[in-house]
Amino acid sequence: MAAYTVGVDVGGTKVAAVLVDDAGAIMRRSRAETESADYAGLVAGIVSAVTEVREGVEMSGVGLAIAGNVAADGSSVLFSPHLPLAGEPLAQDLCGALGTRVFIDNDANAAAWAEHECGAGRGAGEMLFVALGTGLGAGLILRDRMYRGYHGFAGEAGHITVVIDGRACPCGSRGCWERYASGTALVSHYVERGGDPEVGGPGITRAAAKGDPLALAALEDVGEWLGRGLASLVAVLDPELIVVGGGVSESGDLLLDPARRALASSVMGAGRRPLPRVVAAELGNAAGVVGAAMLARHDGQ
Ligand SMILES: [Zn+2]
Repeated sequence: MAAYTVGVDVGGTKVAAVLVDDAGAIMRRSRAETESADYAGLVAGIVSAVTEVREGVEMSGVGLAIAGNVAADGSSVLFSPHLPLAGEPLAQDLCGALGTRVFIDNDANAAAWAEHECGAGRGAGEMLFVALGTGLGAGLILRDRMYRGYHGFAGEAGHITVVIDGRACPCGSRGCWERYASGTALVSHYVERGGDPEVGGPGITRAAAKGDPLALAALEDVGEWLGRGLASLVAVLDPELIVVGGGVSESGDLLLDPARRALASSVMGAGRRPLPRVVAAELGNAAGVVGAAMLARHDGQ
C-alpha cells in the first residue's frame, strides 16, 4: 500500500485537502472553492482539491471529515447542517471521479482518531475526545477502535440535556451541554457576567491569558460545565483518557483545571474511584483533516 493518503475538510464554501504520510505528518496542502452551493458543486470542489494535492504522488485512499451524521459504513452523509448532503452516494461518486477508495467520517470522529494515532491520545485504548468550538463535538475510541454506534451517529454528546428547560439550542431542544460548554457558550457566560458581546470567543481567550478577571471567570464557567458533563460520560464509559480539543482548549489549564475539579467532585463515586486524565489536544485545527486521511488508510478501522 502506498504510504500516502489524502484527508479532506469539507466546509460550506471551501474545501481543504492535505497529503499525509503513514505517521500522520502533512506533506502538502491544497484548497478549492466549491463551485456552486449544490451537490454537484460540492463534488467538483472536492475533486479539484484532491487532484491538486495528490499530483505526481502514489496514494492509497481519500478520507473526508464532514460536520454531520455520516452513515456507519462511511459511504454517505445522511444529514449535515451546513452542506447540501442528504444521503447521496458521495463516496461512490468521488471514487468514480478520483479512481481511489473514499471513506467519509464525522469531523469530531476524524479529529478523535488523529489524536489517538499521533496526538495527545497516543497509547490510550479507551479514549474520549471532546472538541469545544461553535458547538461541542465528541468522538469515542473503545479498545483502540473508532466507536460509531449502530447507525453511525454515536458521539453527539453536545446535545445531552444538562439543564432541564435551559438555554435554547439550534437543534430544537433546550439545555443542551454545548449551550454551556463550547466557544459559543464562552461568549454567553462572558455576556451574562456583564462582558461586551463584541469581544467574541477568541478575544475572551486572549484576555483570559492576560489575566482579565471577567474573561477568566467566563472560561472557568465553561470549564465547570465541561467537567460536569464529562462526569456523566465518565459514569457511563469509564475512559482511560479524555482529550479536549477545539479553539477553547488553547486556553489549556485555565479551562482544564476547573473541568478536572468539577469532574472529580460530581462524578459517581467521587473520591473513591480512579479518574481519567483530562488533557489538551495536541494537533489543533489540523486534527480533523489528518484523522480523515489516517482513517482512509484502513477504511475507517
Ligand atoms: Zn442541542
